[in-house]
Amino acid sequence: MRKFNSIIKTCLGIGVFTACLSFSAESVLAWGGYSHWEMGQRISDKYNYSDNEKLNFSSGSLLADIGRLSWDRKYTSSDSEKFSDKMLSLASNSSAINFANGWKAHYIQDTSGALSNIDGGPSSYRVKCGWVDEYLRDHKNLNCPINNTCDAWVDYDLIKSTYDNLHNFNPSNKEIDREIKKMYVAFDLQLIANINGWSDSEIDGIENELNRTVGLCMNNNKYIRSVAPSYINLTDISDKDMDIINKTIEFHIDTVENLNSIKLNKAKSDTKNSYIINYSVEDKDKYENMLKKIDNDLKNKGIDISNL
Ligand SMILES: [Zn+2]
Repeated sequence: MRKFNSIIKTCLGIGVFTACLSFSAESVLAWGGYSHWEMGQRISDKYNYSDNEKLNFSSGSLLADIGRLSWDRKYTSSDSEKFSDKMLSLASNSSAINFANGWKAHYIQDTSGALSNIDGGPSSYRVKCGWVDEYLRDHKNLNCPINNTCDAWVDYDLIKSTYDNLHNFNPSNKEIDREIKKMYVAFDLQLIANINGWSDSEIDGIENELNRTVGLCMNNNKYIRSVAPSYINLTDISDKDMDIINKTIEFHIDTVENLNSIKLNKAKSDTKNSYIINYSVEDKDKYENMLKKIDNDLKNKGIDISNL
């Protein structure tokens, strides 16, 4: 009997270990960009942050998905615990610390927020992400950098030094800008398959889950350092498909007709190599057309965003 117990324990141990391994290796697309921004805003309000602190924090919460289409496959996912902890350790002024804490909050949102807690709506996880974003963007008229209704703030040096420290990789400001643009397009793309007309109970479900997740990002200390997230078990998009998505988005944002329709305007900010950025969509119809073209192109290549 004792031997049997120890075998069981060993099996359980291996099982738990394997589960941890497969979870930690997994990168999860848990929320859309509008949701990450909104949760950053709600957390900032609970902390009574100043406008500047709120901007720094929410920007970190939004931008942690940078590199999702490209660098994540080569390096540590930028929205992982490892990446955000490294960033926090390198942040040396208050703006940078707020930014890094927002980045860490994104990781907690991704790993602890459960869209499956929201009743109704689509069954596809990724469409559900777009569905919640659509609620925030169109029904709550959320101001968000992605739809150019407010600015974001980027600490380029902190992003670079985190990559450099972990991977000897030193992206230029220009490369970071390109990733931000692609990330914004990817979030808007996720909204293509949205569903309109929520019932009151569905809206309650969205609000409850947003607020529950915000609560998980808070602790008694001002800065988020130790939260044990429960991981979402979600099979991520394969490397091959992600490569196709990346290249298709790059192709479309680089075509002459779209080149000037989306721009990142920048204004120098307080600390070295940090900027207030403003994403301008010059022509909304043209932009939406581009998104539809990307979606169609992907479908022709066998990738249906709403079915991933
Ligand atoms: Zn993420």
